[in-house]
Order: sequence, then structure tokens, then C-alpha cells
Amino acid sequence: MLGRTIQDLRAEITEIAESAALAAPPVTVLAACKGQPVSVIEAAIAEGILDFGENKVQEAQGKWPVLRQRHPHVRLHMIGPLQTNKTVAAVELFDVIQTLDRPKLAEALAKAMQESGRSVSCYIQVNTGKEPQKAGVFPEEADALIRYCRERLALPVVGIMGIPPHHQPPAPHFALLRSIALRHGLTELSMGMSEDYRVAIRMGSTCVRIGRALFAEH
Ligand SMILES: *Cc1c(COP(=O)(O)O)cnc(C)c1O
Repeated sequence: MLGRTIQDLRAEITEIAESAALAAPPVTVLAACKGQPVSVIEAAIAEGILDFGENKVQEAQGKWPVLRQRHPHVRLHMIGPLQTNKTVAAVELFDVIQTLDRPKLAEALAKAMQESGRSVSCYIQVNTGKEPQKAGVFPEEADALIRYCRERLALPVVGIMGIPPHHQPPAPHFALLRSIALRHGLTELSMGMSEDYRVAIRMGSTCVRIGRALFAEH
């Protein structure tokens, strides 16, 4: 059911991560499992995947309460755009939110964490290509948002996340994400998907989000 074997993918990632100057091993392999049924996710867990990403709160609410009970060690990441009115549910269900991209959402997350007593690590999503259809704060507004989240709201911001435009070479976008993380002392960099994870790892990714390469249809 799974596409490439996970061992195979891990071996390749380790090799790249150990041979590139900017690489930052160990690199987390996050399985982007939108649209995948519980049975396929169970198979990925059995093969040793510990991190999963969902794009929609509602889909995650349908799949994950049971999975979490069975596999308490697995970490669930929100990797899709998050609506402000879904923050209470998101804080309840996710361990990591990778798509924090605006002050209003930051305020709602801070409130939800305060009220639930749950601390959920956050990545700031940056729209390096300034694509109107894509989520993420624009690069020139990222510094102010990061400072607001950390200093004013005391949110646990741990890293930067981004998705380069489809039609452009990804390396300059990864470099920009990395430079934003570096100047804020943020150690986590979520960048790289099935098409470009090799480049992303060479440029310092600490978390690659892999969908199609793991869950290929046969
Ligand atoms: C679906 C998705 C991925 C995985 O994409 P693939 O190209 O299938 O590897 C990664 N990140 C996000 C935010 C996604 O929505």
C-alpha cells in the first residue's frame, strides 16, 4: 500500500544530510497523510513513521482520536491553512502547528493554549513566492510576526515553514526561509516535499513533508 519503502527513503535522506555542508541532521520525515484512510496511516506507523501532517482540522478530527489512543507516541502536525474559528479544536488535537501566518491567528492560538493549558509548538509559515493563493506571511512581514508571537504572546515558536512556488527553482526560497530562521535563532526548518526534499535537506531542512512519494497509488 505504501509507495517507496520508508527504510529506503530514510537511508537516502541520511546520506544527503551527512554529506551536505548546510544540512542539519537528523531530518524528521513527516508523512503528509491528507486523504489517506486510517488503515494506511496504521501501516506507516508500523514502518516507523512518528510524525504525520494533516491539512484540515475536520478531517483530522475524524481520523486521529482513535489513532492517538492506539499510538500515543506519534506526533500530529497541522500543515494546512488554519481558520481562526478552528483554533480551539486544533490546539486540542495537534502537537505542532506549522501554519501560523498572521497576528489574528496567533492571538486565537495563544488564547486557546492558555485556556486549555496545552502548549503546542508553532512554526511561522512564510510565503516566499508571495503567491496570492498560498497561505503564509510575506517575507518582509515575517520578522515582525515572529517577534509579536514570541515577545507579546509568549507562543512557543520553534521554526519556519514554507512551500516554494511550483514553477521556480526551490533553492532560493529555501535559502530565504533558512535566513529568517537563523536571524531569530529558530532551529526548526520545515521545507521540502516529494519533488524537492533532496534540495531542501541540502539547504538545512529539519523536517521534510512527504506525501506522494510515500503514499503512491498502485
Ligand atoms: C500535501 C502536502 C505535502 C506533501 O506533498 P507531496 O508533494 O505529496 O509530497 C507537504 N506539505 C503540505 C503543506 C501539503 O499540503
